[in-house]
Amino acid sequence: MHDYQAPADLLRDRIILVTGAGDGIGRCAAKTYAAHGATVILLGRTVSKLESVYDEIEAAGHPQPAIVPMNLDGAAVKEYEDLAMQVEESFGRLDGLLHNASMLGDRTPVELYDPETWNHVMHVNANAPFLLTRALIPALRKSGTASVIFTSSSVGRKARAYWGAYAVSKFATEGLSQLLADELDDERNNIRVNTLNPGATRTNMRAHAYPAEDPQSVTAPEDIMPLYLYLMGKDSEGQTGQQFDAQPKK
Ligand code: NDP
Repeated sequence: MHDYQAPADLLRDRIILVTGAGDGIGRCAAKTYAAHGATVILLGRTVSKLESVYDEIEAAGHPQPAIVPMNLDGAAVKEYEDLAMQVEESFGRLDGLLHNASMLGDRTPVELYDPETWNHVMHVNANAPFLLTRALIPALRKSGTASVIFTSSSVGRKARAYWGAYAVSKFATEGLSQLLADELDDERNNIRVNTLNPGATRTNMRAHAYPAEDPQSVTAPEDIMPLYLYLMGKDSEGQTGQQFDAQPKK
């Protein structure tokens, strides 16, 4: 699937929500989905970044996106429910949901890990995707062929020392994905749910985690888009409860 070539109209008329759409991989995925015909709902916490993605999509002549300013660290349950209502009112359904936003937190031994930071990381990376999915399931059900993608990490599949709450939150992500896949894989729902590990990708988060690394030696977000398109488009229908990697394993 790493060399998957998406037809130009793969996502025509699809409504897709991307979290953390203002920067890094989420920004690239939002623009890529729009370029393949989707109406993209850009969710994030820094409005100026979302506006610049919006402008780029509009300038390219792709379907007009929507902006949803939301800080996943503090949003109340009602904000998720209001968002779901807004999506149903504006679009009538949701065809795709890319859970992409995450925070890295500290890279430190568990013994020294700051409990407050732990809670923030677990909330943004694991609880917020639960709250968002929970609220949006009725809209996803109305799609008839919806795809939910959770962004995982190699440390969410095999933990490594000092990755702290980030690693644990990604294990939770894998668990939530499996749970939902098992619950939603029937005729009534027809929602497929998978996890995607982007692999080392040139973003602010990567630079923060590996400050000594030359960013130019790391894969650009544009180069991992084939899997993001494959999982969002109709060619992955029937695939659910699985773990995908956006880059070939070295
Ligand atoms: P970045 O840090 O570059 O981007 C993360 C995005 O999430 C930003 O747009 C950020 O918003 C947003 N975000 C963070 N916290 C919140 C919040 N509280 N509320 C709303 N939005 C928030 O990360 P990447 O692009 O590198 O990572 C994307 C995904 O890929 C993450 O799930 C990450 O764990 C995963 N991943 C990345 C790898 C890599 O090498 N890059 C490797 C493995 C997994 P803002 O810009 O406003 O801060």
